[in-house]
Amino acid sequence: MNYSGIQYSIYKMLPMSIQNLIITYAGSKRWKHESTKEFQNTVSSLQNIQNYDTLQIKEYQRVKLATILIAAKSTEFYSELLPSERQIASDPFSILFSVPVLGKNDVRSDVKRFINSSFPGKLIQHGTSGTTGTPMQTIWTQECIDMERALIWRQRKQTGLEFGKEWRGMLGGLQIVPLEQNKPPYWRVNKLAKQVYFSTYHLSPASASAYLEAFGKFDIKALEGYPSVLYTIAYSFRQSGLDYPLDSIYYGAEPLQDFQRKMIEKVFHCYVLDYYGLTERVASASEFECKNGLHENWENCILEIVDKTGNPASEGEYGELVGTSLSNLGFPLLRYRTGDMTRFLPGECTCGRSSRRIARIDTKREDLLLMPDGSLLSASNLTFPFKDVEHILESQLFQRIPEELEVRIIPAGGYLNSDGEKLIKGIEQMLPESVAVVLRIVDEIPRTKSGKFRFCVSEITHTDES
Ligand SMILES: [Zn+2]
Repeated sequence: MNYSGIQYSIYKMLPMSIQNLIITYAGSKRWKHESTKEFQNTVSSLQNIQNYDTLQIKEYQRVKLATILIAAKSTEFYSELLPSERQIASDPFSILFSVPVLGKNDVRSDVKRFINSSFPGKLIQHGTSGTTGTPMQTIWTQECIDMERALIWRQRKQTGLEFGKEWRGMLGGLQIVPLEQNKPPYWRVNKLAKQVYFSTYHLSPASASAYLEAFGKFDIKALEGYPSVLYTIAYSFRQSGLDYPLDSIYYGAEPLQDFQRKMIEKVFHCYVLDYYGLTERVASASEFECKNGLHENWENCILEIVDKTGNPASEGEYGELVGTSLSNLGFPLLRYRTGDMTRFLPGECTCGRSSRRIARIDTKREDLLLMPDGSLLSASNLTFPFKDVEHILESQLFQRIPEELEVRIIPAGGYLNSDGEKLIKGIEQMLPESVAVVLRIVDEIPRTKSGKFRFCVSEITHTDES
C-alpha cells in the first residue's frame, strides 16, 4: 500500500477527511479484486477440497506439478535439466525430486534465467530485500498472487472471519498519521473495506486508551499486522491495565516469538493463528481450528524438509524447508530453499484434513547461534528466559563471535536493573559456560533494509548462505 502516488510530505498536510479518502482509494484496488466472483470462487473451491484424502491430493498435485515442470522447461535454467514433456507427464514427482535444490543466491545472481519465456500472461515484478538485507527480485503471475491471497482468506473464513462483514484493525509500517499530530485520532479509515489503519508510530502506554476507545467505537473484531507491532500495542495496553476481546488476530512477514504471542493473547483474549508464506511464493502453510501445527497448503505448493547437505531429512527430523510453487507458471522455482527451519509432524490430525503438517516456524537459518564447540543453537530456545522478565519493550540477540552473546534491550517504563540481571542469568543458564552473556541497553534496535525486525542477528551464521 502507498499514498496512491502522493508524496508523504504532501499527504501529511492534507485534511484528515482527504487522508481517509486516500487510504480508502489505496486499499480499494485489492479489495475490489478480492470481492469479485472469480476470487471468491477460488476461496470457496479451496474450502471445498481441503478434506481431500491423500490419493486425491496426490492426483491434484500430479496434474499441477506436470504443468509447472513443463513451464520450467521454457526457462534458461531448467531447459537442459528436465526431460521431455511426455516423460514429465508420466511421472512428475520423480522428475521433480531429481532436480537439485535451489539456493537463494542461485536465483539472486541471475533472475532472468528463471523466467518462463513462453508464458503468455503478464509478469509482475516484485523487488524485495531478503532477510539478510540483500536485494532480491521475485516475479509473480496473477494466478500465483490470487492463490496465496485465497489461501489466506480460506484460513480466515475457516476461523470465523466473514469477508467484508466485520471491521478489522490493521497495524502496518506506513505513516498514515503524521508524526506531528499529537492527539487522537491516531488512525485512518477505509470504510469500503471496513478497515481501520492504526498508526504504529503513536503507540505508547499514554496513548493506549485512545486506541482502545477506537477499537470499541468501530467494533473491531479482528486485528492484523507485523508481530513486533502487535506486540507493541499489546504491551502498551498491558502497561495501562487495558484489554480488549477480539475474535481473531493474524500476522505475517516476521516470525512471532513465543513471549510476544503470550502477551498478545493475554491482552486481546484471543488465539493468534499462524500463517506461513514467503515472498517467493514457493511455500505456504496454515494453522486452523485444530491448532495442531500448520497444514501444508498442498493446493499451491509441494513442501520438503532437507538436511544440511540438501538431502531429504529423516522422518520427523528438523531441517530446512524447501518449496515448489504449483501456480507460478511465469517464474517456476523448483525445490527452493526457504532458509526456514522446521519439521513434519507425525500422525494424522484431529481435524480430519489429510494434509501434512509442519511445526510452527519461528527459526530462520539465520536465527541460529554458533556455539564455541561448533554446534548450532536455535535462538528461539533463548526466548524462554524473556517470559519471566517484565519492562522490556524490544530485545535482540546479537552474536559477533561464538564466545560472546550480546543481549540488546530497550527498557520500558518501570525497568529496574534487577530485570536485566534476571534476564541475563536466565540466558546464561541455557548456554555453555564458555559463552559470556553481555547486556546492552539501547534506544533503538535497527531493522533490516526491508524494515523487518529480527530477534536474532548472528554475524557468523549469516555468511553461511547457499
Ligand atoms: Zn488439523
